[in-house]
Amino acid sequence: MEVRRIIPQGFCKGVIKAMMITNEVLASHTTPRPLYMLGGLVHNKHIIEAYQKEGIKVIPSLEGITHGSIIITAHGATDAIKQDIINRGLTLIDATCQDVAKTHTLIKSKLQDGYKILFFGKKTHPETIGILGISPQIILIESEEDIQKLPVVVGQIAFMVQTTMSTLDLAKVLTALRIKYPTIELHHDVCDATKQRQLALLQGIDDADLVLIVGDPMSNNTLKLQEVAKRKSKAPVLLVESINDLLNYDFTSIHKIVITAGASTPPAIVLEIEEGLKNGIHPSLLQSKDFLATQKPRN
Ligand code: SF4
Repeated sequence: MEVRRIIPQGFCKGVIKAMMITNEVLASHTTPRPLYMLGGLVHNKHIIEAYQKEGIKVIPSLEGITHGSIIITAHGATDAIKQDIINRGLTLIDATCQDVAKTHTLIKSKLQDGYKILFFGKKTHPETIGILGISPQIILIESEEDIQKLPVVVGQIAFMVQTTMSTLDLAKVLTALRIKYPTIELHHDVCDATKQRQLALLQGIDDADLVLIVGDPMSNNTLKLQEVAKRKSKAPVLLVESINDLLNYDFTSIHKIVITAGASTPPAIVLEIEEGLKNGIHPSLLQSKDFLATQKPRN
C-alpha cells in the first residue's frame, strides 16, 4: 500500500507561534499564576487537553477572574476584551496569529475611513466573533446566498475574509460580490497556510483510493480540507482525529492513500498514522507531551 503525504500540511506558522508563546509561559517562573486560556489556543482537543494537564485553565469569559495571566488564542480577541484584561489587573499574553491581527488592523482603518465592511466567515468561529466585536457595523456573509439579501450600499465598501475559509467558496462569493457591488474593494486574504494546504491537496488526490484528513472537527481549516477533498475526489474521504479512528477500517481494497492534516494537527499524530498504515494499525501510544512539541514553520 502506498501512503502519500501531501505537502504542505499540518502545523502552520500561527499555530507554532501560539504554542511557542504558551510553552514559554508554562516554563516561566515570573509569569503570574494561575494561567488561563480565553477559549482554546488552537482548534485541537489533544493540544488543549495537554495544556490543561500542564495546569492551564480554559475559560469561556473573564467573569470572576481576578488574578493571574490570560492567554489570548491564535484566533484573536477584540480590543474591548484586551482592555478588560488590563482593567482587571491581569497579565495579558497575546498569542494572536499575525494574519488574524492583520485583518483586525485593516478593518479598523477602513472603518475609520468611512467604509462599510462585509466579512465572509463562520458565525460561531472565534476569529469571526472577534472581528464582529470590532464594530456592530460589520456585516457578516456566511454563504454566496447571503449576498442576494444584502442592501444597496451607498458610499465606499470593502470586503474581508476569515483566514481559514475554503478558496473554492471564496471564489463564488467574490464573483457574486463583483456583480452586486462593482466598486467594492476586495481584500480576500485567506491565509497562505490555508490556501497552500487546500491547493496542494487539490493537486495531489486524483489517483487516491482513500483520502485521510487528520484533524479536529472543531478546526475550520481541517473541515475545509475535507470539503475540498470531497468535491475533487471520487475516493472516500475520512476525517480522523488519531490512529484510534482507523482501528476498525477495512483497508483490503486500498492501494493508494493520500494523507493531509489541518493547520492545528500535531505532527506526532500524522506520523503515528503514517507508520501505522505501513506497519499495522494499533491503538495510539502518544502521550500528552507529544502534542505540545512544535516544529519549524514550513510556510
Ligand atoms: S491557519 Fe492561518 S490564520 Fe490560522 S493560525 Fe494558521 S496561519 Fe494563522
